[in-house]
Parts: sequence; C-alpha cells; structure tokens
Amino acid sequence: RQFTANVSHEIKTPLHSISGYAELMRGGIVKPDDVLDFSDRIYSEAQRLIVLVDDIIRLSRLDEGEEVLISENIDLLDTARNAITPLEKVAKDNKVTVSVSGDTVNITTVPQLVSVIIYNLCENAVKYNRENGSVSVVVSDHDEYAQVTVSDTGIGIPAEHLDRVFERFYRVDKSRSKEVGGTGLGLSIVKHSAALLNAETEISSVVDGGTSVTVRFPKNRKK
Ligand code: ADP
Repeated sequence: RQFTANVSHEIKTPLHSISGYAELMRGGIVKPDDVLDFSDRIYSEAQRLIVLVDDIIRLSRLDEGEEVLISENIDLLDTARNAITPLEKVAKDNKVTVSVSGDTVNITTVPQLVSVIIYNLCENAVKYNRENGSVSVVVSDHDEYAQVTVSDTGIGIPAEHLDRVFERFYRVDKSRSKEVGGTGLGLSIVKHSAALLNAETEISSVVDGGTSVTVRFPKNRKK
C-alpha cells in the first residue's frame, strides 16, 4: 500500500509540471522566446516519467514473480563488460572513466538479472561521481562464490543513510537525485534481483571519498 502511495506521488509531480507548462503555452501568454525553454522542460519531465514507469514495471514484475528466470552458464567478466556499454556516453558526458577488470569466472545464474544489478550499480557510480572521477568494476573468483565490486570516487553516502538506500524511493539528497535523472528505485531493483539469485550485497562508503558495493553470486544458482 505504501509503495502504491509513493508511486502515485512520484508520478504526479512530473505530470503536474507538464500540465502546468502546457497550460501556460495553451493560454498563449508565453513569449515566443520562452517557447523553446518550456518545450524543453515538458520534454525532460516526460522523459523522467518514462524512466520512472520503466523502473516501476521492472520492480513489480520482480515482486509478482513474473520475470522468467532461466539460469545459464555465463562468464561474469564478459557480462560486466557488456552491462556497462550503454553507460559509455553518460560517463563521457560526466567526465568519468569506467574500467572493468579481474578474473574470468563461469557461473550458472540468470544473466538478465546479473546485468541489471551491474548496470544499476555502475549508473549510480557514474551519476554520483565528480568531474574527472572514476568507476572501477572488479570481478573476482572465490571458492564458494564469484564477486563483483563496483567502486567510485564520488560524493559518498553518510553513514546514517547507508542502511536505507536500498529502500524504494529512498534518496539521500532528493534534488541531486532528480538533477541526475534518478528515480529512487535503482538500488531496490539491485536488492530484489540479488535476492532472487541468492546473492549477498555489501555496501561501504566514505563521504567525499566514494562508495563501494560488492555482490557475491553463488556459482550455481539453486532453481
Ligand atoms: P536514484 O535513482 O535516486 O539514484 P537509487 O535507489 O539508485 O536511486 O539510490 C538511492 C540513493 O542512494 C540515491 O538517491 C543516492 O542518494 C544514493 N546513492 C546510490 N548510489 C550512490 C553512489 N554510488 N554514491 C553516492 N550516493 C549513492
């Protein structure tokens, strides 16, 4: 019930601004010089809505057990490399470098969920970084599990928020999240996906130093 209430609130905010700008334009009182700016705002609020609805759909599919979970044998290092490809442009625009390194390790798991986890962690690592900062993804092979660590040189998370960032719609700094196109759902998707894979998640962070998230995947996901 709480989630539904939050969803409604999160959707209403951009819809209200879209409606407000459109109403002003419709009334013919917007100076021709401002039309471009107003259309731009309408466009970016609509884009926010699309990203938000996509995340909500993904999360409710996970909730409802609607995701088809088929395990396959994958190379985790390869999967990590592929997962970050869509982030190359945003990393470049933010002047942040992203590197992937480590061991080649084969595991049996659900590839789509592993990609979603790594993508979301790297997206945050890029978004909450600083100019000329970096993100490093390290894959390592252990006896009992295979591990991925995503570390960044970003703004960090104050200790008192660390336990809560995996909650739905929880943001440390709402305006910063909004500015970088966040929905507040990324880490809850990570947590939910990890749970379905029986993977463990660990986070540590230093304010103005950076954040590091480790996910340990069992090598053979139980069906
Ligand atoms: P969002 O869409 O707002 O990024 P997430 O669920 O992915 O939502 O993350 C929740 C909050 O945790 C973010 O709003 C941000 O405050 C904080 N956060 C997540 N990852 C990082 C990171 N790598 N560095 C600093 N803060 C982070």
